[in-house]
Amino acid sequence: MKTGMACLLIETDQGLVLVDTGLGLDDYANPSWMTRLFRMITIMPFDPNEAAVNRIMQLGNKPGDIRHIILTHMHFDHISGLADFPHAKVHVYRREYEAFTGGKIRQFTDFAYLQRYIAHQPGFICYENVDTKWYGFEAIRLPFAPEIYFIPLPGHSRGHCGIAIRTAGGWLFHAGDAGAVYNNETPAWLIKLVLGPHDPGLRAFMKEHPEVLVSNSHMPPEFFTQHPFVD
Ligand SMILES: [Zn+2]
Repeated sequence: MKTGMACLLIETDQGLVLVDTGLGLDDYANPSWMTRLFRMITIMPFDPNEAAVNRIMQLGNKPGDIRHIILTHMHFDHISGLADFPHAKVHVYRREYEAFTGGKIRQFTDFAYLQRYIAHQPGFICYENVDTKWYGFEAIRLPFAPEIYFIPLPGHSRGHCGIAIRTAGGWLFHAGDAGAVYNNETPAWLIKLVLGPHDPGLRAFMKEHPEVLVSNSHMPPEFFTQHPFVD
């Protein structure tokens, strides 16, 4: 199955905010062992034109315009591009930051934590206190307008979060790697093993709330032409 790697670009009161970075330029030039392995088991796009920094420049922005990056989690394919935005503050759920920096392998997906991607020592802002609810989910409000929330959905990684974003057309709930809700080919046990326990709940949420658009990180690229929610 063809997959993509979704990064979101959001216009906020504090300028452009990027959600996840995808693979960075250095990974295209000099792939990590994990990137090489991942390319063997999935059909992942591997065209540097698709790197977030290049897509952002193709849209007429400069890399320095990205002042803030929000991470769903810190697996290699979501943070590899951090170094392409060295001046951005990086917003992350503290449990995820500690799992990444703690250096202990507690579950097999922890092998996707590779320290090389933060060698440039980005400025992290960690969040730990769940302070509100969003559609019944525990949530952490991030300091941006429009409203953006971390929705902790641990499992795929120890501090994995979905991101809820208020858009002009309604809510976008980017569930990151916590589900495979547009994929009906992969068996449920495999989804649970790799992505964690939230997939059935996310599918139920989508039925209950068709007004909320739910996305995942690795979806067929066609999703974005079917849902041009960016405005
Ligand atoms: Zn992941």
